[in-house]
Amino acid sequence: MLLEVRHIRKRFDDRTDALTDVSFSLEQGEFVSVIGPSGAGKTTLFRILNGAIPCDGGELFVDGAPMHTLKGRAKREVQKRIGTIYQDFALVENATCRQNVLNACLPDMTFLPAVCGLFGAERTAEADRLLDRVGLADKAEEPVKNLSGGQKQRVAIARALMRHPAILLADEPVASLDPVTGRQILELLRDIRETDGLTILMNSHNLALSLEFCPRLIGLSAGSVVYDGPAEAVTDATLAAIYGDGQDDAP
Ligand code: ADP
Repeated sequence: MLLEVRHIRKRFDDRTDALTDVSFSLEQGEFVSVIGPSGAGKTTLFRILNGAIPCDGGELFVDGAPMHTLKGRAKREVQKRIGTIYQDFALVENATCRQNVLNACLPDMTFLPAVCGLFGAERTAEADRLLDRVGLADKAEEPVKNLSGGQKQRVAIARALMRHPAILLADEPVASLDPVTGRQILELLRDIRETDGLTILMNSHNLALSLEFCPRLIGLSAGSVVYDGPAEAVTDATLAAIYGDGQDDAP
């Protein structure tokens, strides 16, 4: 099992229980979408998985390594296996596409080369190869601020791949994009999953796209997993369990 999440809990200081008991596992090569109404705990789950915040209890194994018990360098090594792309891309707008992709290497570099931006020929060639992989071979020297939203998300994907993650967390990857562009980004992710065996865990408000692109869905409601199964087995009753009977927040 590539990722095992066991009984994860998270309570914020104001005593909000964001996650009460979340367990699931991912096998290599899966493309899974976490769905659920606003406030269900999706973002909190992703922030725990990428190490941005700690959980209060439970266990998290990445390729068998117990991330919940590791600290410092050992934890960072495991954390490196989980890459993230975000709704707002989180790129350096004034820097070129190549530079943004290369920035992924900074945490692994020693001080002087890092501050001087001396990435070396090998890393630069890999960054260019990845830009080519996401369809931006001709944009390497273009500042990110000149790109469209879809192109920016492609740069963010290339940057995430630069760290050779085993799992890619896609946090609302198409929420800022128009429908056509959003679909193209999901097609790219699906292609990378198929050709490179990347495992992708997505968090999306868009139920229709989740059903179309992800063979498996995990439904979160009020901090708990209320559905974990094939997209094709999702019924109206499943959606009522996830979004509530009124389905006020259902997409
Ligand atoms: P989702 O991504 O599904 O919309 P979130 O993970 O953002 O849900 O939020 C889950 C719950 O945790 C909500 O009740 C939210 O208000 C609360 N929450 C999220 N972040 C914080 C925080 N930093 N401090 C306090 N409460 C938070």
